[in-house]
Amino acid sequence: MADKFVYRFSEGNKDQKDLLGGKGANLAEMARLGIPVPPGFTITTDACREYLATGEVPPVLRVQVTTALREVEEQLGRELGAATDPLLVSVRSGAKFSMPGMMETVLNIGLNDASVEGLAAVSGNERFAWDSYRRLIQMFGKTVLDIDGEAFSDALEAKKAQRGITADVDLTAEDLRALVDIYKGIVRGATGKDFPQDPRAQLDAAIEAVFRSWNTERARIYRRRERIPHDLGTAVNVCTMVFGNMGDTSGTGVCFTRDPSTGTSGVYGDYLVNAQGEDVVAGIRNTLSLADLERLDADSYKELRAVMRRLETHYRDLCDIEFTIERGKLWLLQTRVGKRTAAAAFRVACQLVDEHLITMDEALGRVSGEQLTNLLFPQFDSAASPQLLTRAMPASPGAAVGEIVLDNERAEARAAAGVTGVLVRRETNPDDLPGMVAAVGVLTARGGKTSHAAVVARGMGKCCVVGAEAMHVDMESRTVRFGDVVLKEGDVIAIDGTTGEVFLGEVPVVDSPVMTYISKGLEAGLEAAADEDTRELVTAVHRLLSHADKVRRLEVRANADTPTDSRRARNRGAAGIGLCRTEHMFLGERRPLVEAVILAEGQEERERSLAALLPLQQGDFEEMFEVMDGLPVTVRLIDPPLHEFLPDLTELSVKVALQRDKAARGEGVDEAELARNEKLLLAVQRMHEANPMLGLRGVRLGLTLEGLFALQIRAVAQAAVARLQAGGDPRPEIMVPLIGSVRELQLVRAEAEKIVADVAAAARVELNIPIGCMIELPRAALTAERIAEEADFFSFGTNDLTQTTWGFSRDDVESTFFPQYVENGVLGVSPFETIDSLGVGKLVTMGVEAGRSAKPGMKMGVCGEHGGDPESVEFFHRAGLTYVSCSPFRVPVARLEAGRAAVMAGGDATA
Ligand code: PEP
Ligand code: MG
Repeated sequence: MADKFVYRFSEGNKDQKDLLGGKGANLAEMARLGIPVPPGFTITTDACREYLATGEVPPVLRVQVTTALREVEEQLGRELGAATDPLLVSVRSGAKFSMPGMMETVLNIGLNDASVEGLAAVSGNERFAWDSYRRLIQMFGKTVLDIDGEAFSDALEAKKAQRGITADVDLTAEDLRALVDIYKGIVRGATGKDFPQDPRAQLDAAIEAVFRSWNTERARIYRRRERIPHDLGTAVNVCTMVFGNMGDTSGTGVCFTRDPSTGTSGVYGDYLVNAQGEDVVAGIRNTLSLADLERLDADSYKELRAVMRRLETHYRDLCDIEFTIERGKLWLLQTRVGKRTAAAAFRVACQLVDEHLITMDEALGRVSGEQLTNLLFPQFDSAASPQLLTRAMPASPGAAVGEIVLDNERAEARAAAGVTGVLVRRETNPDDLPGMVAAVGVLTARGGKTSHAAVVARGMGKCCVVGAEAMHVDMESRTVRFGDVVLKEGDVIAIDGTTGEVFLGEVPVVDSPVMTYISKGLEAGLEAAADEDTRELVTAVHRLLSHADKVRRLEVRANADTPTDSRRARNRGAAGIGLCRTEHMFLGERRPLVEAVILAEGQEERERSLAALLPLQQGDFEEMFEVMDGLPVTVRLIDPPLHEFLPDLTELSVKVALQRDKAARGEGVDEAELARNEKLLLAVQRMHEANPMLGLRGVRLGLTLEGLFALQIRAVAQAAVARLQAGGDPRPEIMVPLIGSVRELQLVRAEAEKIVADVAAAARVELNIPIGCMIELPRAALTAERIAEEADFFSFGTNDLTQTTWGFSRDDVESTFFPQYVENGVLGVSPFETIDSLGVGKLVTMGVEAGRSAKPGMKMGVCGEHGGDPESVEFFHRAGLTYVSCSPFRVPVARLEAGRAAVMAGGDATA
């Protein structure tokens, strides 16, 4: 047959998740292992995709279902829905990725007015038979016929109320028989047709309903959130029914081979006597523990334990299991590699190594950078239930509690008074840096994940939530409004940079011992751990991270521009600084000095302004080189969009207009100040750019504003000399931003070489300072072969490269139309967060290849935000980069991911 849409459980295996879905593949695997699985078959995702494309069930599917069904019937000697000893089946969805509770299940298919009597006779349990029938009508009505589920549950409640009982199990066979009539009435009322009595018609309709349920609204929302592609489709499992509701020797349960929240090895599970299907997870009745099961039915318990061990050995991982016991006989209905918390992931991975079930390399594959991230930041105590003000974009993880502070002055004053503050702004710009430094967290109404607030906060490892559109900041009244809630400056809020939630009032924060380990070492981490479980966790993180360090090929550096951050980065295992953004050294108090350089008229004035900056800049570098002694520090020459260093055009225009107006009215105005402002305004107007991000910045500014780069280069060289003379081992590298043409680099390089040589000669020392450039414009990537001739190294600036490849303004798009773009599938995830491997990534790969073709073995790194993103690190490993550079906070995550990339790629893709 051309298309095989149906696989018997005996035909598949666990590696066929694409085709059979997770559930189907694992059922097949268990059947192969000889574990007791009720007979059945799986309808493939191909069939579902065809249905979704054509709106019709493929005709050949019905034929194949007939063949498979007859085989099951023959095997069991029973027929679907027969009047005596009927075979009943369940129909369950099962996609490649688990989508818990998103799509529907129909149990007890095959029951009708005749077979219900047959079931009662063969089971000797009339109540059970009618309970099964009423469940079928309820599930079928809701799932297949789209009848509001409440109609059935209301009828059930009404029946119980009428009988004066509260538990379902207290309903008698008579009650259930009456309920079946009521349910049939509901079906007739809602659809105008009778509940179908033909067992095969029930089966076909249920299969089609499962296909359809792939596209329900909640399934779509879930997939978007979990980044599961919409075009996978689901498989459908048709499985012989076994009954947990056949009395007190029957029951149903779920269990884990290890505790999924801590990783502790043992028996974890819930069991419900005389129950079916979803009863356990639905929380209708209190469940029993597996220890209780041991007391109730020692044989089944023993068999279950053996199966659990078998599965864990076979899958070599924590498994979760669904089982049913039918009159003392154990059946396995499902198993899969179990979901687990981040802490459990690390512990289980190491436990499995210690039990010699997996190797250390494999253990790395069982944990992720995202899980490590989760273990690193302080978290709100989950026991607290604070009032949610809004949910916005999580931009930098962590948990921060503090008073609302609306500007630098307030932030600094409160910090000086020992009070924590959360800086709340409509958006931030470089002027807000002091406030960001003083505050414990940052919350903005505008901006996306690469907005100024987000990038700077991430760099500082400071908790940040951005794009809180529902928040209105009113600087006039100094209030912040969230809907009806109006808060004043000084009121306390709590922000969660992991979830994007903003809460009212104090929320307790708990510290992470894993973070203590990362920054202070194993001993301190173990000491910070409150109990044995946590100590095991800290040890597990240590073992896996150390292994990652051993196997990784990518170096990990940090983006840092202060000695404090550099120290932090070094403690966390950074092998140097990959990006020191020197423009950050010119903000705050020093901004007027740069403004003076930009606005200087004539050579002399400029030289004077520059001279004022030299010692400050040299001091910065000396401190950085000292902290990073013996490790490379990549100093990027200044790269500000010009407007960040100049007063705002509108504000200044208004100021000057008001002063002029006052002067015209003869009111006292400081003439000298007015003249200064007028001059400044002219300059700001002259330099105003409609699109500063694409304007006079980076190397363009350096080549235009004579002396600025020279000053920085001199400061680097002199700082290196000073460190050498102090007995240190400085390793500076000079990096030129925003190169588009090789000629730009040639010009800067010529000047830099001369300055470095002069400084070295004057000090009588040897200075060897590599000069490289950023590749952050498409043209640079496209002409990398030529640029490489002038560069000692490349560093890919994937923030700008993403911005310029897509033509997306990095400060704006994430909070404007990205949500819609994610919704309609243009984007799976923001390309500013995870590298767009097909587009931007291709430019990176081309740049690497072209650069190395000109200069084999050339050192190449990446220093955009992607350098610390788990998925992107894997890409950069494959692209053959030498290092990734990321914020100090993400250094351990990048180390782990680089190790994972190395073991999972199974060798070097490009070397
Ligand atoms: C980049 O563009 O990727 C980069 C690192 O530079 P910046 O973010 O400072 O523009
Ligand atoms: Mg850049």
